[in-house]
Amino acid sequence: MEGTMRTPIIAGNWKLNKTISEAVALTTALKALVVDATGVEIIVAPSFTALAAVSDSIAASNIHLAAQDVYSEDSGAFTGEVSAPMLKDVGCDYVIIGHSERRQFFGETNESVNQKTKAALAHDLKPIICVGEQLEEREAGQTEAVIKSHVTGGIAGLSAADLLSCVIAYEPVWAIGTGKTATPAQAQEVHNFIRGLLTKAYSAEVASQICIQYGGSVKPENTAELIAQPDVDGALVGGASLEAESFAQIVQNVQ
Ligand code: PEP
Repeated sequence: MEGTMRTPIIAGNWKLNKTISEAVALTTALKALVVDATGVEIIVAPSFTALAAVSDSIAASNIHLAAQDVYSEDSGAFTGEVSAPMLKDVGCDYVIIGHSERRQFFGETNESVNQKTKAALAHDLKPIICVGEQLEEREAGQTEAVIKSHVTGGIAGLSAADLLSCVIAYEPVWAIGTGKTATPAQAQEVHNFIRGLLTKAYSAEVASQICIQYGGSVKPENTAELIAQPDVDGALVGGASLEAESFAQIVQNVQ
């Protein structure tokens, strides 16, 4: 099936940036710039402290709210963690899970990604499951093996109905925050491989409905050629999502 059947998703991962007032200033500007955007799902992912204010700011707009992480348990003695019911309560529709920075710096594993994914789904939050190889892995010819373990590990045990609520974000680690974007052909090759994995694990019908975002130095100038690839269904954007104009331009360039 053609990629055009899937609504592209553009998500801004703000990472460890923005105070509450800065976050609201950004969404206030962004709302006005994307008010007429159609045929694209727009998401912002502020830090936990700004979620409530941003949720109010984007209420009744076409922008959706995501968190950058979630814990696998709903409540209890887990100091410092934030749960799926709490994220739902504050207005999140999505949650980013398994970002490479969390895998690299905070001990995230395929197993914890899987547990968090299940917790999110249990509370009607859509997981954006991040997968991606490091430079050394690509150079050693291990890209497909790494992607396979991230994808199959992350979605292990999910029903087809649950999988349909998930988004996969392919983010080659060597392209994140480096200014080195994967070429459209490199992105397409891996996205096609991921869709093939989903086809084998579920069916072509299910796989054809899953949105697979690309992430890694996405900018207004490279969005259109990436999104033109048949299996690239949107972007997870870091640096360029921190300014309303550049993020809105990316949204514009997928339409
Ligand atoms: C990200 O962290 O998800 C990301 C893709 O960052 P950047 O766009 O800055 O490379």
